Amino acid sequence: MSLAVLRSRALAGMAAPPVTVEVHLANGLPSFTIVGLPEAEVKEARDRVRAALQNARFEVPARRITVNLAPADLPKESGRFDLAIALGILAASGQIPGDRLDDYEYAGELSLSGQLLPIRGALAMTCAMHASHRDDRPPRAFILPLANADEAALVNQAVILPAGSLLDVCAHFSARDDTGRLQRHQARPALVTPLHPDFSDIKGQLQARRAMEVAAAGNHSILLVGPPGAGKSMLATRFAGILPPMTEEQALESAAVQSLSGSFDMARWKQRPYRAPHHTASAVALVGGGGTPRPGEISLAHHGVLFLDEIAEYPRSVLDVLRQPMESGRISISRAARQAEFPARFQLVAAMNPCTCGWHGHSSGKCRCTPEQVRRYQERLSGPLLDRIDMQLQVAALTPAELATQAAGESSASIAARVAAAFGRQLARQGKPNSLLAGREIDMHCQADAPGEQLLQAAMVRLDWSARAYHRVLKLARTIADLEGVAQVEKRHVAEAIQCRRGLVTS
Ligand SMILES: [Zn+2]
Repeated sequence: MSLAVLRSRALAGMAAPPVTVEVHLANGLPSFTIVGLPEAEVKEARDRVRAALQNARFEVPARRITVNLAPADLPKESGRFDLAIALGILAASGQIPGDRLDDYEYAGELSLSGQLLPIRGALAMTCAMHASHRDDRPPRAFILPLANADEAALVNQAVILPAGSLLDVCAHFSARDDTGRLQRHQARPALVTPLHPDFSDIKGQLQARRAMEVAAAGNHSILLVGPPGAGKSMLATRFAGILPPMTEEQALESAAVQSLSGSFDMARWKQRPYRAPHHTASAVALVGGGGTPRPGEISLAHHGVLFLDEIAEYPRSVLDVLRQPMESGRISISRAARQAEFPARFQLVAAMNPCTCGWHGHSSGKCRCTPEQVRRYQERLSGPLLDRIDMQLQVAALTPAELATQAAGESSASIAARVAAAFGRQLARQGKPNSLLAGREIDMHCQADAPGEQLLQAAMVRLDWSARAYHRVLKLARTIADLEGVAQVEKRHVAEAIQCRRGLVTS
């Protein structure tokens, strides 16, 4: 056989479209050509494959070698195809049997010595491979580097065959019995141990703790407004620890995004991600992008928490980009005719000072800002973005004397139990968290009783709220009633919800 065909996958956003690696040997002057890769990467792939073959004591055939990676218009990074190219050359030149090549998919970068180096996106590739399986043939197994085996094996039914080196893979194809064959990887994640710090560290702050509980229970976004040292960051870093448990599907999606950026860690399996990019981070780092589009912070926070501290300091242009994913849960990135889409269903926790100096509204009277300055500072957050944040809360700073007298707070575990119960009620009633209700669903599920409705109407007029804000308060009231386990939204729920939206002077 002088032609070998192997299967692999490229990465395009979260998708992993199939790529065919064809290797053809012809007579003529010895050469080694790769088509279908960007020019600069061809040379690297060629050099790595050649060195790996030689160091594994195989022969690089002295013929015209042509490698075609099809389809040509897919974005391809060279490294992941090394293993398939090397195997193709070996099979086409008869150095390994080629009859079972089509039973597998391949991915892996080769070191010069023939070791298999990890690739990014192994989980997305496995998901795509598993999803493309048709019933008329047995599913393909996936041969990939050892370091990627754990994440790939998260896809339960997929057959993962990890290998340490090119030689291991060759032995698999030459083996007459099980001794030389690659073994199926079975690792299941270790037990979940909580990664996030505990709410019991926070003394006092009853109102803020309650607000975080409401936000967690209904998947509501929240803005914390308060002076420096009020504990806004402490609240935010503990927030992911009280969210409802992830479903298997959510955990897989989240892990697949982390795997795309090469940052997945098994210890984080089924843990809600917590991302806290600094306000000096670039727009690309925050929302994703780059030559080969990669997920940004908002996607790495998928199914978890995105904490934007000092949100008023972020460039307005960056904050404006957040509006689309906050509505749709996805972000589309276009770069040089390439389009990529990543999931970004994050829960936003934002924090800011009430004014430039930070002390506006504080009992110490330290703030010297004029009302005009305060208004201008708070207006750095655009109205449309503010409108999309469900809860706005003032967090007061405690004096040292107050701190000393406060008892330690309730633990994350006991808050999380209430949150999970309230969340379960929402799923049973409507199949989604309250924050994602829209249009008629709000009328159907969030209707307040008559006194509650009156109170809300009055607040809407008095506080000059938009229709969007009105609906957000109704959804918040629904969550508060769910925490209490009550079917009907009543006046007291509405009253608390209104209080949860009064953090800024301009709101
Ligand atoms: Zn001030």
